[in-house]
Amino acid sequence: MGGGKARSSPASGQGGATADRGAAARGPASELAAEPGASAWQYAPAPESRDVVSIEPEYGLFVAGTFRPAADGRTFATINPATEEPLAQVAAAGQADVDAAVTAARTAYEQVWKPMPGSERAKYLYRIARQLQERAREFAVLESLDNGKPIKESRDVDIPLAAAHFFYYAGWADKLEHAGFGPDPRPIGVAGQVIPWNFPLLMAAWKLAPALAAGNTCVLKPAETTPLTALLLAEVCQQAGLPPGVVNVLTGAGDTGAALVSHPGVNKVAFTGSTEVGKEIARVVAGTGKKLTLELGGKAANIVFDDAPVEQAIEGIVNGIFFNQGHVCCAGSRLLVQESVADIVVERLQRRLATLRLGDPLDKNTDIGAINSRQQLDKINELTQAGEAEGAQRWSPPCQLPAKGYWFPPTVFTGVSQSHRIAREEIFGPVLSVLTFRTPDEAVAKANNTPYGLSAGIWTDKGSRILWLAQKLRAGVVWANTYNRFDPASPFGGYQESGYGREGGRHGLAAYLNV
Ligand code: NAD
Repeated sequence: MGGGKARSSPASGQGGATADRGAAARGPASELAAEPGASAWQYAPAPESRDVVSIEPEYGLFVAGTFRPAADGRTFATINPATEEPLAQVAAAGQADVDAAVTAARTAYEQVWKPMPGSERAKYLYRIARQLQERAREFAVLESLDNGKPIKESRDVDIPLAAAHFFYYAGWADKLEHAGFGPDPRPIGVAGQVIPWNFPLLMAAWKLAPALAAGNTCVLKPAETTPLTALLLAEVCQQAGLPPGVVNVLTGAGDTGAALVSHPGVNKVAFTGSTEVGKEIARVVAGTGKKLTLELGGKAANIVFDDAPVEQAIEGIVNGIFFNQGHVCCAGSRLLVQESVADIVVERLQRRLATLRLGDPLDKNTDIGAINSRQQLDKINELTQAGEAEGAQRWSPPCQLPAKGYWFPPTVFTGVSQSHRIAREEIFGPVLSVLTFRTPDEAVAKANNTPYGLSAGIWTDKGSRILWLAQKLRAGVVWANTYNRFDPASPFGGYQESGYGREGGRHGLAAYLNV
């Protein structure tokens, strides 16, 4: 499937965004490059229509079932990272708005949601799930516009999984006494939930669905660069007839999140985001009696043994680190490959990367979309420059990046040692660091040599080796011969600096019950 015009063999070194920034802007879903020797043909543009979405010029906060401006009238802009086009002005919630939302959530909790039988709560969750399905195209286009991710990912992964979470937890709402937490598990109260920008709607679903099923009410704070699908979800809550105050959405930046998690009326804090902010929240919440779950960063090892089916492993490596531009907490950002097959794996990986198509996120052929923000692009640039400065070899396929927007080409570093920053720090971008190992014990030692512990991948033909290794890896999720697979029934969460608590499955209910 080598799309695009045939080009010279993969370039080395200057794959960086700045190096290509002056290149001519290309059409939608412009290809990165072709496999060497591939025939000279191109994919026609296949853009998804924007018309399915109507974006308002301004959005308010969703408090007590209605949309309203911030008390002090502050707003901020949310932009399309692929074009830098402003999409809308969004209300920035201050302390008074946090007070109002927490009060609304408390009232709804005491008067409506807690006393309601689980079987009735379930009906609302099913309604929300069905609405998400019915409006899936609208949600997918809006997510890609606000976040920059390819439409095929928002359409095929984010939105269906968000609906699946509501369906799954709707099923638990009237069966909580059978969930293994005693005969009469009780909700906690008001949940303050803060989420990141990499999977905006999906993270909202991960937070809201179990909390509501367990009988809690919620105040959700989406990330400042991606507020729009959370606000559309608020509209869906209205449409589903959810009682006012059961779900409240406060848009704003870190100060809004800080005001929410420290609010004395909040009983449970659930945070997904960076380890740095997670530590700060842990300090703020300590000693308050609030229940806390933290889903933080990661630096996962994706381990390829010499008996792995190579082509399958290549697809797993690509999916592991280039899915969602690498903006994935559980991304397989460290490739550990057995020394005897390292050359062939890297060579085939480079050939495969040359076929990926970077460009317009709304084009259905696009594999790599935009980086979500200028700030994130700066961080990726800083860490990749550090990788070169520390002596690793940088490679990207020949690549011209669109003239406007935030872009970074798929990038592979070889010759990486464990002490390099690119082997230790979360880059949160389309950047893979390749390390090698000789024995299974060395693979374990290197994989576990990280302050994080969210996920890992194993590629081998031997089932016994998978079981042996999975026992030894300090990671909350271990995928075998696959990567980045998610299911609402499967718990997800980390060790060490990747956080604590689990989301998803029966375990995800525990975080929202007094157990
Ligand atoms: P971030 O920590 O900067 O921001 C996350 C959210 O916290 C945003 O809504 C932000 O406004 C808010 N926030 C910022 N400062 C705050 C404060 N002092 N108090 C309360 N809220 C505050 O993270 P990000 O850059 O948006 O997201 C990327 C990070 O999220 C990565 O590290 C990634 O690994 C992590 N992540 C983890 C998971 C997981 O399940 N473990 C999932 C997705 C993302």
